[in-house]
Amino acid sequence: MLTRSALLYLSNQEGLKEFATRFRLFKKLTTRFIAGENIEEAVNAIREVNARGCSASFDHLNESVTSIAETEAEVREYLEVLARIDETGIDSNVSIKLTQFGLEIDPELAYRNARRVVEDAARRGNFVRIDMEASNVTQATLDVFKRLRAEFGLNDVGIVLQSYLYRTMDDARALLQIPARIRICKGAYNEPPEVAYPDKKDVDHNYVRVMQLLLGSGVYHGIATHDPKMIDATINFAQKEGIGKEAFEFQMLYGIRRDLQEQLARDGYRMRVYVPYGKHWYPYFMRRLAGRLANVWFVLKNVWK
Ligand SMILES: Cc1cc2nc3c(=O)[nH]c(=O)nc-3n(C[C@H](O)[C@H](O)[C@H](O)COP(=O)(O)OP(=O)(O)OC[C@H]3O[C@@H](n4cnc5c(N)ncnc54)[C@H](O)[C@@H]3O)c2cc1C
Repeated sequence: MLTRSALLYLSNQEGLKEFATRFRLFKKLTTRFIAGENIEEAVNAIREVNARGCSASFDHLNESVTSIAETEAEVREYLEVLARIDETGIDSNVSIKLTQFGLEIDPELAYRNARRVVEDAARRGNFVRIDMEASNVTQATLDVFKRLRAEFGLNDVGIVLQSYLYRTMDDARALLQIPARIRICKGAYNEPPEVAYPDKKDVDHNYVRVMQLLLGSGVYHGIATHDPKMIDATINFAQKEGIGKEAFEFQMLYGIRRDLQEQLARDGYRMRVYVPYGKHWYPYFMRRLAGRLANVWFVLKNVWK
């Protein structure tokens, strides 16, 4: 039987990645979650997202990069994205992954590469969010983020925390001392019980605790979830504490719960949609399948259509 952890295991298999990305059929199946292969397709998707009352965040898909030349190409891609945001006037910031910039080659390289993107974004008055990846790079990601945050402003660069990790509440408290803008999400990787809550109800409980800490801090944070229970908890807490709708933003992924995205935007909440694009879609796509097993059947049904 296909389980969440089986799909997450498959998301890391290089052979399958090669196989899947070579076939057009697979690519067609990804269009629900992935906005296209190049910047222009992503710009068009973001125009539609903006027209629905939501802001966006570009994500050029790539991770675990092992060649220095490829990390350089990633930096250039993001510099082009930032320029296109200014040229087109679309409402979007950018999300990056440090393993895309070489974190697993050399943390210093990832820092230098990320710094070039953050510097350009800061100059343009834009914002860079550093995604959080698997737990083997959590500390290294936080270390690079803290160095960047020491050099750039609160509104230039932000970070992500995952409520499935035991360490997250402590990380959130420490980051708020700086302070830092945080996106809280549940976490999308296959983590062992030594580092992460195995039970979903504990992940959800921790999510609510961290969300409350963030909202109470007075800093502008991102509440990233499609879970109506997490969204209701956020709205109720904000109302109870007299925290305004403009003091935080909800965030969701491209292609997931569009109805809820539009509803929240209509209700006057700030809603940001994370828009992934690019050729290296395989691990991201598999994590989305793992996020909801019904998606596997949705995809398989379309193979036979
Ligand atoms: C903007 C944004 C940025 C993110 N950044 C990161 C990051 O940097 N690092 C990281 O580890 N994770 C990241 N994630 C992923 C996150 O950790 C979760 O894996 C993902 O959001 C699913 O959790 P959930 O809060 O939606 O709740 P869940 O309990 O997983 O889902 C609640 C409900 O949401 C809907 N839903 C959720 N996922 C799917 C799906 N794949 N397809 C269809 N419906 C779905 C279903 O209706 C489901 O019942 C991000 C998520 C968002 C929204």
